[in-house]
Amino acid sequence: MIVGHLKDLSAIAASVRGHKKILALGCGGCVTVCRSGGAAEAEDLTREISHPRHHAGIPPVLTTATIERQCERDIVRDFLKLPEGTDAILSLACGAGVQIVADVFDPLPVIPALSTTFLGGADEPGVWREKCRGCGDCLLTRTGGICPIALCAKSLLHGPCGGSRGGHCEVGGDTECAWAKIYARLERQGRLDLLEQPVAVRDWRCAGGAGPREHRRTGVELRFGKT
Ligand code: SF4
Ligand code: SF4
Repeated sequence: MIVGHLKDLSAIAASVRGHKKILALGCGGCVTVCRSGGAAEAEDLTREISHPRHHAGIPPVLTTATIERQCERDIVRDFLKLPEGTDAILSLACGAGVQIVADVFDPLPVIPALSTTFLGGADEPGVWREKCRGCGDCLLTRTGGICPIALCAKSLLHGPCGGSRGGHCEVGGDTECAWAKIYARLERQGRLDLLEQPVAVRDWRCAGGAGPREHRRTGVELRFGKT
């Protein structure tokens, strides 16, 4: 899922300064699950930044709404009705949601309350960790289901590097060495041969180096066309 975290309150308050009627818009998708941008967080944020201490003059009027997914144009267009007089939207979605809402309500300012952090998974209750960088050419088949692009500090495609010590990475702390983990798992699987296979030079254009990427669900359109 996409994980994000709420920006600093004073930074959010500064970013909405000058607006008089603001809709704080939660998203019912990933950011609800990771507890950073759902309905409850939109209510909390509204309460916090309505406080006069954040505003030199009269605080803005803040209302709250949450839609199922801000990252789907149809949902935003069909289900989000702005309260009369809204002069800005404070979005608690990921960056994709913010941009879709901004497109739908152009030229109304849509201001992000969150910083989108990573594609991650919940390793334990309440703890999400980065797992994937969306590189467009997944290599987990040959790395035992552990992503060196996201989990290795240098995104090495061959490792471990000389900084690996006792299963830990040279960046310090408790950071595990991704390549030490890959080696250990492949060893348990009896698949160390995977590390000896030649690997073609990677084409990084599919990772986003050739402009914004696109995914089309053509099969679904064809099926709809036949019914
Ligand atoms: S190899 Fe690429 S697609 Fe696969 S998990 Fe890593 S970043 Fe994500
Ligand atoms: S020690 Fe391991 S995780 Fe850290 S940079 Fe080197 S190979 Fe990557």
